[in-house]
Amino acid sequence: MPWEQREVNGVRYYRSQLLAQFPWLEQGFSTRAPVSPVTKPGVEEEYRRRFFALFGLTPDRIQMVRQVHGDRVLVIDRPQPGLELPEADAMITNQPGVGLATIHADCVPVVLVDPVRRVIAAVHAGWKGTLAGIVGQTIKRMEAEYGSKPADCWAAIGPAVGSCCYRVSRERIKLFQEKWPGLDWRAAEKRGVLDLAALNQQCLEKLGVRPARIDPARLCTACRDTDFYSFRREQTARRMLSLIMMK
Ligand SMILES: [Zn+2]
Repeated sequence: MPWEQREVNGVRYYRSQLLAQFPWLEQGFSTRAPVSPVTKPGVEEEYRRRFFALFGLTPDRIQMVRQVHGDRVLVIDRPQPGLELPEADAMITNQPGVGLATIHADCVPVVLVDPVRRVIAAVHAGWKGTLAGIVGQTIKRMEAEYGSKPADCWAAIGPAVGSCCYRVSRERIKLFQEKWPGLDWRAAEKRGVLDLAALNQQCLEKLGVRPARIDPARLCTACRDTDFYSFRREQTARRMLSLIMMK
């Protein structure tokens, strides 16, 4: 199902239409801040604040992490905002009103929902995190903490660098082949590319999430320069937000 682009109060973002079926859930992936004739400092911060405000979120209700391309999953009961963010690449919660947000410019955003146990997760999966199995670690933690079953879970995979723009070394492809020898690597080998979103999707399916319950955006952050920042394309320090929360 194609992701829907919305514009509310001058803020553009994308959301999964599959997850939009849950009326008690909010989910969105922000775009780059509008280009203004004068580049003022703080423009990106202001755009982020306005994006969060669309969901009624103030800083004290938002949990973010210092993303380190690892496989650590944090359980969030109450957000602890501040300058000293904990190091992790995934968060889970069963608390309504808590916004889980990760930041991205090419790395894969994955959000998970278990509507049975009412648990959500936000995941940041770059190539290292994908290889480390961060999505699998997150589902396992949901199961351990809250009793979630993969067969009950839904997932959305947000905009990320596509295989169209993600050329990598043979050595890197080999790392993935060694980890998942059962997958089809012919296209990757032939073109020297990786499709990180597709790899995360395959991980989810292998864990037992039903294919019809996974909604990939299939939007390339490097191709779509009017919508997204891309580290590959512009070596920027700017990032989009991937947000999920239960109302
Ligand atoms: Zn592309």
